[in-house]
Amino acid sequence: MTEYCGYCGKALAEKEKGVVRLKDGQAVCAECADKTRILYPFRYSYVLTRSTIASGWTRKKDAIYDNTVLGQRIDPLTEMTLEEFRAAMEESLKAAEEQAARYADAKAVIEVDHVRRYFPNVGTVEKPKYSKRKHYGVFGKVLYGELITGAEVVVSHKDREYSAKMKTLEDWDGKSAAGTPVGKASAGKLVNMMFSQGMDFVYPGDTLIVR
Ligand SMILES: [Zn+2]
Repeated sequence: MTEYCGYCGKALAEKEKGVVRLKDGQAVCAECADKTRILYPFRYSYVLTRSTIASGWTRKKDAIYDNTVLGQRIDPLTEMTLEEFRAAMEESLKAAEEQAARYADAKAVIEVDHVRRYFPNVGTVEKPKYSKRKHYGVFGKVLYGELITGAEVVVSHKDREYSAKMKTLEDWDGKSAAGTPVGKASAGKLVNMMFSQGMDFVYPGDTLIVR
């Protein structure tokens, strides 16, 4: 039996990705769910700390990917009925409109959580050789708009404006301990933006803008 999104009516393919099962058993599609993440993001029972990240930098024998978001993922949408989801959608669309007015000339706005440098193993497991090239990951949350892979992000500090072109984009709201490469991410999503350059001008709490 075909199932439909309770909000937009779209037919859901079997094993469709990102479908959310609501409290009353109804399903909503990934696109509808994503529109509400601006106000109802995933929550995690484990918070990545700076010391967790630092251990990933120094213990070079360990893959840095092991030091990632662990613990349980909680989806606040699963605690809603379809009626409550409809109200959540209305609130979220309004919030997106307010953000649009606030960031009038931006295509996307990201709040930075942390920056980490990766040392990918370019050797073998037995004979590891760690790349000295610059691989930086900027983790954060999309506050507004749609972030596209390859976008140029801009941050302003009191001395000047800095910019960098992203290489790849990863969705970090998945259940695995690593990110999933994606082409774009919408407001409310946790992301990692990878850069092949030093990103030492980006600090936790910074606001990055894509124009
Ligand atoms: Zn839908």
